[in-house]
Amino acid sequence: MIERVLAPNPSLYTGPGTNSYLLSSGTDVLILDPGPVIETHAAAIVQAVGDRRPVGIVVTHTHPDHAPLANPLALTLDVPVFGFGPGPDFLPDVSLVDGSTVSFGADELLAVHTPGHTSDHLCFRHADTLFTGDHIMEGSTVIIEDATAYLDSLYLVRDLGVTRLEPGHGAGIDDAGAAITEYIDHRLERERQIVVAVTEGAGTIGTIVDVVYVGIPAGLRHAAVHQVGVQLTKLSRDGAVSFTLGAAEEETEVRLR
Ligand SMILES: [Zn+2]
Repeated sequence: MIERVLAPNPSLYTGPGTNSYLLSSGTDVLILDPGPVIETHAAAIVQAVGDRRPVGIVVTHTHPDHAPLANPLALTLDVPVFGFGPGPDFLPDVSLVDGSTVSFGADELLAVHTPGHTSDHLCFRHADTLFTGDHIMEGSTVIIEDATAYLDSLYLVRDLGVTRLEPGHGAGIDDAGAAITEYIDHRLERERQIVVAVTEGAGTIGTIVDVVYVGIPAGLRHAAVHQVGVQLTKLSRDGAVSFTLGAAEEETEVRLR
């Protein structure tokens, strides 16, 4: 059984808030992405566990909206913490790599290393369901650190053939294949839009953002600038563009190769 406990941390970047999940098999319960340290949220998770037996806490990645409650909650529940590796406010007892499994009751969760959003990002497969953390969200696109790795990780999860996605933010997604394909198409389209913008004369990251992210809220412009920079790093690796870093990221000069 899968239960969701929504953390009370809604924002531009977290949508309605972080989804914490409880996965149960018999009386065993595994907690996935406990979220930020918020006392009421910790209490809500403990209450959802009820009189069942907590067996562990797994974390998709070490961002502040996913991982920091893991260690304090593990102390409260006396269970081990599982994750790819240490991060800010996060120290796993057990390090997971691609292919690692975590048992609960008669079931197990399979770790799938999906770098791109962050280099330490894991998705977790349980039967036909994939817990996607911030690799795939419902209702918004994802901020990424590495566009090459991210796209490769999208192809990887597409090829798993799961039918349902449970994201770190937003509602569950029933047509997994269609959602993943949409994410891949969106990435390739962004890449194409950037090349077109440069071809048509946009010479800096700032002007590319003006063309590609028309009407973006002011609060997200900084993120958009950084995302174009990340995408340009991939396009430069692919041999499509070259760029010279500016004093500010926005002023980075871009040319076609
Ligand atoms: Zn994240």
